[in-house]
Parts: sequence; C-alpha cells; structure tokens
Amino acid sequence: MINVYLPINGMHSFSPAYTNIATFAPPAYASAPIMPGKWLGIVGGGQLGRMFCFAAQAMGYRVAVLDPEITCPASGVVDRHFCAEYNNYEALTEMARLCSAVSTEFENVPAASLDWLAQTTCVSPSARCVAIAQDRIAEKLWIKKAGVSVAPYIVIESSATLRTLCDKSLSVVLPSILKTARLGYDGRGQKSVCNPDEVRAAHAALGGVTCVLEQRLPIAYEISAIIARSTDGTTAMFPIVQNIHRNGILSQTISPSPVGDTALIRRVQAAALSIAEKLNHVGVLCVEFFVLKDGSLVANEISPRPHNSGHYTINACVSNQFEQQVRAMTGMPLGCTRQHSPAVMLNLLGDIWFTDKMLRVPPWHKVVKIPGAHLHLYAKEEVRIGRKMGHVTLTAPDLHIAQAAARNCMNLLHIPLE
Ligand code: ATP
Ligand code: MG
Repeated sequence: MINVYLPINGMHSFSPAYTNIATFAPPAYASAPIMPGKWLGIVGGGQLGRMFCFAAQAMGYRVAVLDPEITCPASGVVDRHFCAEYNNYEALTEMARLCSAVSTEFENVPAASLDWLAQTTCVSPSARCVAIAQDRIAEKLWIKKAGVSVAPYIVIESSATLRTLCDKSLSVVLPSILKTARLGYDGRGQKSVCNPDEVRAAHAALGGVTCVLEQRLPIAYEISAIIARSTDGTTAMFPIVQNIHRNGILSQTISPSPVGDTALIRRVQAAALSIAEKLNHVGVLCVEFFVLKDGSLVANEISPRPHNSGHYTINACVSNQFEQQVRAMTGMPLGCTRQHSPAVMLNLLGDIWFTDKMLRVPPWHKVVKIPGAHLHLYAKEEVRIGRKMGHVTLTAPDLHIAQAAARNCMNLLHIPLE
C-alpha cells in the first residue's frame, strides 16, 4: 500500500491534498498491444495534446480529447472532442467507453478523474503518479525515496503553520523561493523571498495556500531527462538536454547537452531511471535537474508526460516523445530514442507577436528560410504575453551550426539573447 503521509521536519500535519493517493485503484494495462485503428483518449487538449494527436494519428489510431475549451489547440486535429470539464463524470464515462487507453497531457488534471477512467479502461500515467506530480510535497518525498536529492525546503501548510515558525527556523532555507504546493507552472505561483517578513508577505500574496519554502540554489546550469517506460518495465531514454529559462519560463533547449561531463550525464540518467522505477511509472516522464556550482545534482521536479524540453525530439530523434507516449499507453514496444541531428529548440512566447504594444504577425517566412528550421505553431486563438504559442527547432549536422541558426532565429523574432 502506498503511504506518503510522512511528516517533514516534524513541522506539519498531513496534507489533505494527497490523502487519497493510497485509495486509487491499481492501474490496469492491456494484456495485448492495442492495435492501430482503436481509439486513444487524451485528457487535455493544449499543445501537448495536439502533438500527441499528430503522433497517434500518424500511427493509425483515432484520438478523442477531453478539454473544456471549445477552441483548444487539439480541437482542430482530434477525431472526437469531449468538450467538458475534467471532472465531468458523464464525459469521462463516455470517453472510457470509446477509448482502449487514455493518457493525459498535464499533471493538474484531477487525479480522481484518471482513477475513474481506470475502472473501465487502461490509463497511463496512473492516477497515483499524477497525484504525486501535482503536489510539490509528495513529489519531493518520492524523489527522495528514489535516492535523489532535492533542494532543502520547509513545508508551510497554512498561515497558522507559518505563525508557529520563528524567524530562526525560516532562515535555515533563506534566501528562497516560496512555491505553491499545487497548480504552479511556468514559474507561476512562485515568489522570491530573502527574509522572514518577505516570506510572510509572499505567503499572504499567494493566498495563504499550502506552499514549500525552497532554498534558492547556486545553479550552474539546468538539464532534464526524458524517459519512456512501458508496462513491462522496459525503458528508453532520450539524450540529456540543457535548458535555459527566462523569467521562470523555458526559453531554449539544447540537445545533446553541451554542458556536463560523461560522469554527470550518467548520474542524471541513473537518477531519472531510479525515479521512474520508484514511481512504477508507465508512459513518458521528464525529470528536471539543477546542477549546482559545486557539481552536485538536485532534482527540481517531475512531469509524468511529454515535456517542453522534449519537443526537439520531433525533428531530431528517430522516435519522438509523443510517439513514445502512444507506444507506452498501447503496450507497443518503445521506439528508438537515438538523436540523428543536434538541435536547439526555441520556445515562441506571445511576446514576439507584439512590437511597440502593437500586434503583428512574426516573419515566419524568414524563419522557415533558415536551413534546418522546423516551425511548430499551436493554433492558439488568443496571443498573450508569456503564453506558449509555438516553438522552432533548429537542426544541423553539428551543434555549433544549430546554435548559430538559433541565434539567427532569435534575432529575426526579437527573442532576447541570453
Ligand atoms: P515549469 O512548469 O516551467 O517547469 P514551474 O512553475 O514548475 O515551471 P519550477 O520548475 O519550480 O517552476 O521553477 C522554474 C525555474 O525557476 C527553474 O527552472 C529555475 O530556473 C528557477 N528555480 C526554481 N527553483 C529554484 C531554486 N530552488 N533555486 C534557484 N532557482 C530555482
Ligand atoms: Mg519546472
């Protein structure tokens, strides 16, 4: 039986957010591979759901998406759209009836919805894995259980808990980043804090919800591992990549990572594998890591699904991360993760649509003229600052050429150079 009700530093009681993990039904997987022609379901129709559709449909599957947004990015490409809330049990029941297997594009889907689906169809990742990934506290506990380090942190359950923590005990992890335990993404739900008064003000500004106060670490660079794991425990890992963030949002991914020696890359691979196995994960899993200035390795967070830092695999690897998601959920053999071209992936945020606050169409014709440029736009109707609208992957026979092409592309699109 899974039990994650471990008190941390003796400072908090059990969080109601993940008290139900132990009650989830054990996941059921197909006893024989689910063949093309069958229906696959994806919960969430954002860009990850859209790219999942492309991969699944290319292999001959039909795809149904559950997403409350009528014009969500996947809506234009799916075979069937259940336009309903993620906890709409009528829609979930219908989806389970139609689909031979269901996966998810994001971890903030209610784990109870996946648990519901799992009663009548094959679901991966399991509700349990998703429940762990959607709660930073449970996530850190499981990363530690896998023998991997996390940043020093203190759990702040509520304003009442915070009042019991004296300045001295808070200072142990200061300066730090206060992060909401749930529903954070792209740097949202986070505040940098330097002293106890700032912690209290930031916690109030975040609505007094359950948070982790995480020590701000001296990061040398950030890297991530993307691993696919099938129902029989077979794994396949893509090359380890370097990630560069701007304002807490992924800006570019460089693959293979130009930083980190062979020994470090091996440690990263071993850590990612250990986490995937400890979670008994089925599907695609991304583990984000910090490499600190002293060379130590710290896991930041996990995503039990394809990840932004794996988008380059579409154009640079034999199989891509979405195809791996399809293969894992259907019980098909995993694909080859070999990278055939060095690559740089640039995220296209809504910012580049605005010049002097005026909306303009970026010069795509110039972008696609760059040798090795692969443009991916997500068909989002509304352009907003900070919103992920698409990405460009620059592939080349040599990483230096891909990096030069990426700089060229950044200049064209007015993406600030690091
Ligand atoms: P995403 O959804 O894009 O992964 P997120 O909202 O889950 O983002 P994190 O991954 O926790 O947020 O943090 C975003 C970025 O902020 C990290 O990639 C890193 O650059 C920085 N950051 C986060 N935690 C720390 C830390 N403890 N010390 C230093 N920098 C940090
Ligand atoms: Mg992150």
